[in-house]
Amino acid sequence: MKGLTENPIFQMACQQFDAAADHLQIPQGERERTKWPKRLITVTVPVQMDTGETKVFYGYRVQHHLTLGPTKGGLRFHPAVDIGEVAALAMWMSWKCALVGLPYGGAKGGITCDPNKLSVGETERLTRRYTMEMIPFIGSHVDVMAPDMGTNEQTMAWMMDTYSAQVGRAEPSIVTGKPVSIGGSLGRRESTGRGVSFLADRAADILKLPNDSRVIIQGFGNVGSVAAYSLAKYGNKIIGVGDRSGAIYNAGGLNIVTLHAHFQTHGTLEGYSEGDFITNDDLLIQECEILVPAALERVITEKNAGKLKCRILAEGANGPTTPAADAILRQRDDVYIIPDILCNAGGVIVSYFEWVQDLQNFFWSEVEVFDKLYRILTHSFDQVLKEAKVRKVDHRTAALSLGIQKVVEAKKIRGLFP
Ligand code: GLU
Repeated sequence: MKGLTENPIFQMACQQFDAAADHLQIPQGERERTKWPKRLITVTVPVQMDTGETKVFYGYRVQHHLTLGPTKGGLRFHPAVDIGEVAALAMWMSWKCALVGLPYGGAKGGITCDPNKLSVGETERLTRRYTMEMIPFIGSHVDVMAPDMGTNEQTMAWMMDTYSAQVGRAEPSIVTGKPVSIGGSLGRRESTGRGVSFLADRAADILKLPNDSRVIIQGFGNVGSVAAYSLAKYGNKIIGVGDRSGAIYNAGGLNIVTLHAHFQTHGTLEGYSEGDFITNDDLLIQECEILVPAALERVITEKNAGKLKCRILAEGANGPTTPAADAILRQRDDVYIIPDILCNAGGVIVSYFEWVQDLQNFFWSEVEVFDKLYRILTHSFDQVLKEAKVRKVDHRTAALSLGIQKVVEAKKIRGLFP
């Protein structure tokens, strides 16, 4: 597939898949069938800007496999979005859903845009028009979107409204990550960040790290900020936080409440006075017990993997560690990796809960949501650790293998039609 195969993020997802497929000794035919995305959709999205002129944006949706149920995954608004990145993220969603036992194939969508440069009205028109363009390809039992980088509950509310207006009835189950007032689930907004901190805390227990471990978080969006609050609540000390502009570092510990208030008021961490302002590159190599990359892909590379000074790498982002960095970390053997498809799975797990609640019109309490979430995460984490131990592989290969194997088996038992 030309265009895709030249994209470095897609190449990275393929490299990871190939390593796991080698390990599982999947025959060539089944390998090809499992690896390549089923549907790649590209649309043009014309939007009337506030100036009155019309601008055309590019929108994408990749549905990776349809073997186990509808496809599921977020919608990203970011300037770097392209079909290759979206296809890689869709692939990771497939292994993530399979690993934690959700009846979904993976999907991901995106629009190439800078959400920080769009007004609220422009964002709404862009979202609604993208949803319109996607109507032939989505549905509660076909493909269900959710928030990702640059999108949020409001985006999902506009999508749900646009779709519902088209079909002539309220259809909450068309998206997840909606506001609770229109069929969203309690706990969905916090679920990814809380899942990350829950697993990091379990890993810290296994490694017998101190209760007041030092934490560094790169990315202060929905995932990073909730993980910061949650890890601080477990008793850890947050010593560094980064965003697009740079990072705030304070070896004595940061006050997350005032830092978050500053971030929300100014839209950046820059200017916060109770810490040193450093670069994101420097942030990642400061000494700490728990490092959480919670932003874009490919931030841990062959350039900094040898310099990391953390004990746990809890991957809140999708694809933060390149295969070259993985090779270095495997050699070092002193960094305990909680791989992305496990570490950040809390988001899609609670999305699944939201979808189930919407389909049944029967809503759960927050306690029920988190109780069920932590059970699934605990079980999946234990399975990954067991697989890694029995097969003598690293955590990433173990997690990917478990996910990929489930998809391969499902395809095999369903057979090939015609
Ligand atoms: N965008 C999130 C992820 O990458 C959540 C997807 C979802 O909830 O469907 O896992």
